[in-house]
Amino acid sequence: MEQPDRLIQGMAGTGDFRIIAAQTTLTVETAREILDLAPVAADALGRALTGSLLLARLLNKDARNQYVTLRFDGDGPLGTMIAEGTVAGGARGYVANPVPPDPSLKVGQAIGRGMLTVVRGMLPAGKPYTSQVTLTGSGVAQELTRYLMRSEQIASAVLLGVMNRRDGVAAAGGIVIQAFPHTEEAAIAAVEKRIREAPPLSTLLEKLPIEDVVAQVLRGMDYKQIDSSFDVPLEYRCSCSRERALAPLVLFSREELQEMIDEGGSEVKCEFCGRRYTFSREDLLTLTATHEA
Ligand SMILES: [Zn+2]
Repeated sequence: MEQPDRLIQGMAGTGDFRIIAAQTTLTVETAREILDLAPVAADALGRALTGSLLLARLLNKDARNQYVTLRFDGDGPLGTMIAEGTVAGGARGYVANPVPPDPSLKVGQAIGRGMLTVVRGMLPAGKPYTSQVTLTGSGVAQELTRYLMRSEQIASAVLLGVMNRRDGVAAAGGIVIQAFPHTEEAAIAAVEKRIREAPPLSTLLEKLPIEDVVAQVLRGMDYKQIDSSFDVPLEYRCSCSRERALAPLVLFSREELQEMIDEGGSEVKCEFCGRRYTFSREDLLTLTATHEA
Protein backbone atom coordinates (compact mmCIF):
# COMPACT_ATOMS: atom_id res chain seq x y z
CA MET A 1 0.00 0.00 0.00
CA GLU A 2 1.41 3.33 -1.10
CA GLN A 3 1.94 5.83 1.72
CA PRO A 4 0.38 9.30 1.35
CA ASP A 5 2.60 12.20 0.33
CA ARG A 6 3.91 14.23 3.24
CA LEU A 7 6.42 16.85 4.37
CA ILE A 8 8.57 16.06 7.39
CA GLN A 9 11.01 18.16 9.40
CA GLY A 10 14.05 17.49 11.53
CA MET A 11 17.40 18.63 12.87
CA ALA A 12 20.91 17.25 12.38
CA GLY A 13 24.44 17.76 13.67
CA THR A 14 23.29 18.78 17.19
CA GLY A 15 21.46 21.86 15.96
CA ASP A 16 23.77 22.74 13.06
CA PHE A 17 21.23 21.91 10.36
CA ARG A 18 17.52 22.23 9.82
CA ILE A 19 16.04 19.51 7.63
CA ILE A 20 12.86 19.68 5.57
CA ALA A 21 11.95 16.74 3.37
CA ALA A 22 9.02 15.71 1.24
CA GLN A 23 7.68 12.58 -0.38
CA THR A 24 5.72 13.73 -3.43
CA THR A 25 5.22 10.58 -5.52
CA LEU A 26 1.42 10.81 -5.80
CA THR A 27 1.47 14.60 -6.24
CA VAL A 28 3.86 14.32 -9.19
CA GLU A 29 2.02 11.32 -10.68
CA THR A 30 -1.22 13.36 -10.50
CA ALA A 31 0.53 16.24 -12.30
CA ARG A 32 1.76 13.82 -14.97
CA GLU A 33 -1.75 12.49 -15.55
CA ILE A 34 -3.55 15.86 -15.59
CA LEU A 35 -0.97 17.68 -17.70
CA ASP A 36 -0.02 14.72 -19.98
CA LEU A 37 3.67 15.11 -19.20
CA ALA A 38 6.38 13.24 -21.09
CA PRO A 39 8.95 11.61 -18.73
CA VAL A 40 11.44 14.51 -18.92
CA ALA A 41 8.62 17.01 -18.26
CA ALA A 42 7.38 14.94 -15.30
CA ASP A 43 10.96 14.83 -14.05
CA ALA A 44 11.42 18.62 -14.38
CA LEU A 45 8.01 19.67 -13.06
CA GLY A 46 8.11 17.00 -10.33
CA ARG A 47 11.34 18.47 -9.02
CA ALA A 48 9.95 22.01 -9.29
CA LEU A 49 6.71 21.09 -7.48
CA THR A 50 8.67 19.38 -4.71
CA GLY A 51 10.99 22.41 -4.52
CA SER A 52 8.06 24.82 -4.25
CA LEU A 53 6.57 22.83 -1.34
CA LEU A 54 9.92 22.66 0.46
CA LEU A 55 10.59 26.39 -0.07
CA ALA A 56 7.08 27.36 1.08
CA ARG A 57 7.92 25.72 4.41
CA LEU A 58 11.56 26.89 4.51
CA LEU A 59 10.72 30.56 3.86
CA ASN A 60 7.64 30.51 6.08
CA LYS A 61 7.89 33.40 8.51
CA ASP A 62 4.83 32.51 10.57
CA ALA A 63 2.68 33.12 7.51
CA ARG A 64 0.35 30.17 7.76
CA ASN A 65 -1.06 30.61 4.26
CA GLN A 66 2.14 31.39 2.41
CA TYR A 67 2.67 30.20 -1.15
CA VAL A 68 5.82 30.03 -3.27
CA THR A 69 5.62 30.20 -7.06
CA LEU A 70 8.62 29.16 -9.14
CA ARG A 71 8.53 30.34 -12.72
CA PHE A 72 11.20 28.93 -15.01
CA ASP A 73 11.56 30.92 -18.22
CA GLY A 74 14.29 28.95 -19.96
CA ASP A 75 15.28 28.56 -23.62
CA GLY A 76 14.94 24.75 -23.46
CA PRO A 77 12.22 22.75 -25.26
CA LEU A 78 9.86 22.62 -22.25
CA GLY A 79 9.28 26.37 -22.50
CA THR A 80 7.85 28.18 -19.49
CA MET A 81 7.32 25.97 -16.46
CA ILE A 82 5.45 27.05 -13.34
CA ALA A 83 5.28 25.29 -9.96
CA GLU A 84 3.38 26.61 -6.99
CA GLY A 85 3.37 25.17 -3.48
CA THR A 86 1.74 26.28 -0.25
CA VAL A 87 2.65 25.87 3.41
CA ALA A 88 -0.66 24.02 3.78
CA GLY A 89 0.65 21.32 1.42
CA GLY A 90 -1.08 21.99 -1.90
CA ALA A 91 0.89 22.14 -5.15
CA ARG A 92 0.00 22.78 -8.77
CA GLY A 93 2.00 23.23 -11.94
CA TYR A 94 2.13 23.97 -15.63
CA VAL A 95 4.51 23.18 -18.50
CA ALA A 96 4.13 25.05 -21.81
CA ASN A 97 5.44 22.14 -23.94
CA PRO A 98 4.78 18.97 -21.94
CA VAL A 99 6.05 16.66 -24.72
CA PRO A 100 9.39 17.91 -26.07
CA PRO A 101 10.56 16.32 -29.36
CA ASP A 102 13.81 14.91 -27.95
CA PRO A 103 12.99 12.46 -25.12
CA SER A 104 16.64 11.90 -24.16
CA LEU A 105 17.28 15.37 -22.71
CA LYS A 106 18.30 15.85 -19.11
CA VAL A 107 16.16 18.14 -16.92
CA GLY A 108 18.69 20.99 -16.99
CA GLN A 109 18.81 20.98 -20.80
CA ALA A 110 15.03 20.60 -21.12
CA ILE A 111 14.56 23.78 -19.04
CA GLY A 112 17.56 25.59 -20.51
CA ARG A 113 19.08 28.94 -19.65
CA GLY A 114 17.10 32.04 -18.87
CA MET A 115 15.43 33.42 -15.78
CA LEU A 116 13.97 31.92 -12.62
CA THR A 117 11.39 34.11 -10.93
CA VAL A 118 10.40 33.27 -7.36
CA VAL A 119 7.24 34.83 -5.98
CA ARG A 120 6.14 34.36 -2.42
CA GLY A 121 3.16 35.87 -0.75
CA MET A 122 0.08 35.16 1.23
CA LEU A 123 -3.31 33.98 0.12
CA PRO A 124 -5.76 35.32 -0.78
CA ALA A 125 -4.26 38.79 -1.20
CA GLY A 126 -1.18 40.38 0.40
CA LYS A 127 1.68 42.01 -1.43
CA PRO A 128 3.84 39.34 -3.07
CA TYR A 129 7.63 39.39 -2.78
CA THR A 130 9.37 38.70 -6.09
CA SER A 131 13.00 38.01 -6.89
CA GLN A 132 14.92 36.66 -9.86
CA VAL A 133 18.09 34.72 -10.54
CA THR A 134 19.49 33.55 -13.85
CA LEU A 135 18.86 29.95 -14.90
CA THR A 136 22.13 28.23 -15.71
CA GLY A 137 20.74 25.02 -17.18
CA SER A 138 22.19 22.98 -14.32
CA GLY A 139 19.01 21.37 -12.97
CA VAL A 140 16.21 22.41 -10.61
CA ALA A 141 17.99 21.60 -7.32
CA GLN A 142 21.10 23.58 -8.31
CA GLU A 143 19.04 26.58 -9.46
CA LEU A 144 17.10 26.60 -6.18
CA THR A 145 20.30 26.31 -4.13
CA ARG A 146 21.67 29.37 -5.93
CA TYR A 147 18.40 31.26 -5.44
CA LEU A 148 18.41 30.54 -1.69
CA MET A 149 22.00 31.74 -1.35
CA ARG A 150 21.69 34.89 -3.48
CA SER A 151 18.19 36.11 -2.69
CA GLU A 152 17.54 34.74 0.78
CA GLN A 153 21.11 34.45 2.14
CA ILE A 154 20.34 30.87 3.14
CA ALA A 155 23.20 28.39 2.82
CA SER A 156 21.62 25.08 1.93
CA ALA A 157 21.83 21.87 0.00
CA VAL A 158 18.76 21.02 -2.07
CA LEU A 159 18.29 17.42 -3.20
CA LEU A 160 15.45 16.52 -5.55
CA GLY A 161 14.57 13.29 -7.30
CA VAL A 162 11.94 11.80 -9.59
CA MET A 163 11.94 8.16 -10.72
CA ASN A 164 9.99 7.55 -13.93
CA ARG A 165 8.89 4.05 -14.87
CA ARG A 166 7.02 2.91 -17.95
CA ASP A 167 3.63 3.20 -16.25
CA GLY A 168 4.26 6.59 -14.60
CA VAL A 169 6.04 8.23 -11.70
CA ALA A 170 7.34 5.54 -9.34
CA ALA A 171 8.87 7.89 -6.78
CA ALA A 172 9.43 11.60 -6.17
CA GLY A 173 10.67 13.73 -3.33
CA GLY A 174 13.29 16.06 -2.00
CA ILE A 175 15.34 17.25 0.94
CA VAL A 176 16.53 20.72 1.95
CA ILE A 177 19.42 20.83 4.40
CA GLN A 178 19.77 24.35 5.78
CA ALA A 179 22.94 25.44 7.55
CA PHE A 180 22.59 28.14 10.21
CA PRO A 181 24.92 31.17 10.46
CA HIS A 182 26.61 29.59 13.49
CA THR A 183 27.27 26.29 11.70
CA GLU A 184 30.99 25.60 11.40
CA GLU A 185 32.78 24.87 8.13
CA ALA A 186 33.80 21.40 9.28
CA ALA A 187 30.15 20.43 9.86
CA ILE A 188 29.17 21.75 6.42
CA ALA A 189 32.04 19.84 4.81
CA ALA A 190 30.90 16.64 6.55
CA VAL A 191 27.33 17.05 5.22
CA GLU A 192 28.61 17.77 1.73
CA LYS A 193 30.65 14.57 1.87
CA ARG A 194 27.61 12.54 3.00
CA ILE A 195 25.55 13.99 0.13
CA ARG A 196 28.23 13.22 -2.45
CA GLU A 197 28.52 9.63 -1.24
CA ALA A 198 24.79 8.94 -0.98
CA PRO A 199 23.08 7.06 -3.83
CA PRO A 200 20.89 9.21 -6.17
CA LEU A 201 17.82 10.43 -4.30
CA SER A 202 15.37 8.95 -6.81
CA THR A 203 16.84 5.48 -6.25
CA LEU A 204 16.46 5.80 -2.48
CA LEU A 205 12.93 7.20 -2.79
CA GLU A 206 11.82 4.22 -4.85
CA LYS A 207 12.92 1.79 -2.15
CA LEU A 208 12.27 3.61 1.12
CA PRO A 209 9.76 5.95 2.78
CA ILE A 210 11.01 9.55 3.04
CA GLU A 211 11.76 9.18 6.78
CA ASP A 212 14.27 6.42 6.03
CA VAL A 213 15.66 8.23 2.96
CA VAL A 214 16.62 11.26 5.06
CA ALA A 215 18.06 9.06 7.80
CA GLN A 216 20.17 7.25 5.20
CA VAL A 217 21.43 10.43 3.49
CA LEU A 218 22.36 11.92 6.89
CA ARG A 219 23.67 8.70 8.43
CA GLY A 220 26.19 9.46 11.18
CA MET A 221 25.10 13.14 11.31
CA ASP A 222 22.98 12.81 14.48
CA TYR A 223 19.74 13.29 12.53
CA LYS A 224 16.48 13.48 14.49
CA GLN A 225 13.04 13.86 12.98
CA ILE A 226 10.68 16.31 14.67
CA ASP A 227 7.53 14.64 16.04
CA SER A 228 5.48 13.29 13.14
CA SER A 229 2.39 15.15 14.38
CA PHE A 230 4.03 18.15 12.64
CA ASP A 231 4.02 16.35 9.27
CA VAL A 232 2.10 18.14 6.53
CA PRO A 233 0.04 16.03 4.08
CA LEU A 234 0.82 16.97 0.47
CA GLU A 235 -1.32 16.73 -2.64
CA TYR A 236 -1.85 18.16 -6.11
CA ARG A 237 -4.52 20.77 -5.56
CA CYS A 238 -5.65 23.69 -7.71
CA SER A 239 -7.11 26.89 -6.31
CA CYS A 240 -8.95 27.91 -9.47
CA SER A 241 -12.60 28.95 -9.37
CA ARG A 242 -15.39 30.01 -11.71
CA GLU A 243 -15.02 33.63 -10.65
CA ARG A 244 -11.29 33.68 -11.36
CA ALA A 245 -11.78 31.93 -14.71
CA LEU A 246 -14.29 34.58 -15.75
CA ALA A 247 -12.03 37.49 -14.76
CA PRO A 248 -9.65 37.34 -17.80
CA LEU A 249 -12.62 37.53 -20.19
CA VAL A 250 -13.15 41.12 -19.08
CA LEU A 251 -10.02 41.92 -21.09
CA PHE A 252 -11.69 40.94 -24.36
CA SER A 253 -13.14 43.73 -26.44
CA ARG A 254 -16.87 44.16 -26.91
CA GLU A 255 -16.59 42.79 -30.45
CA GLU A 256 -14.73 39.68 -29.29
CA LEU A 257 -17.27 39.09 -26.55
CA GLN A 258 -20.10 39.59 -29.06
CA GLU A 259 -18.52 36.94 -31.24
CA MET A 260 -18.47 34.48 -28.30
CA ILE A 261 -22.10 35.37 -27.54
CA ASP A 262 -23.07 34.69 -31.17
CA GLU A 263 -21.37 31.31 -30.89
CA GLY A 264 -23.53 30.54 -27.86
CA GLY A 265 -21.01 30.98 -25.03
CA SER A 266 -17.40 30.38 -24.12
CA GLU A 267 -15.28 27.83 -22.35
CA VAL A 268 -12.18 28.57 -20.27
CA LYS A 269 -9.81 25.76 -19.36
CA CYS A 270 -7.59 26.01 -16.26
CA GLU A 271 -3.95 25.51 -17.33
CA PHE A 272 -3.05 23.94 -13.96
CA CYS A 273 -5.76 21.33 -13.46
CA GLY A 274 -7.60 21.05 -16.76
CA ARG A 275 -10.95 21.95 -15.20
CA ARG A 276 -13.29 23.56 -17.71
CA TYR A 277 -15.54 26.48 -16.92
CA THR A 278 -18.33 27.22 -19.36
CA PHE A 279 -19.91 30.62 -19.61
CA SER A 280 -23.32 31.04 -21.18
CA ARG A 281 -24.51 33.84 -23.48
CA GLU A 282 -26.07 35.44 -20.40
CA ASP A 283 -22.75 35.41 -18.45
CA LEU A 284 -21.02 37.10 -21.39
CA LEU A 285 -23.80 39.63 -21.85
CA THR A 286 -23.19 40.68 -18.23
CA LEU A 287 -19.56 41.33 -19.16
CA THR A 288 -20.47 43.46 -22.18
CA ALA A 289 -22.69 45.43 -19.82
CA THR A 290 -19.61 46.25 -17.69
CA HIS A 291 -17.96 47.52 -20.89
CA GLU A 292 -20.79 49.95 -21.41
CA ALA A 293 -20.70 51.17 -17.82
ZN1 LIG B 1 -7.41 24.78 -11.83
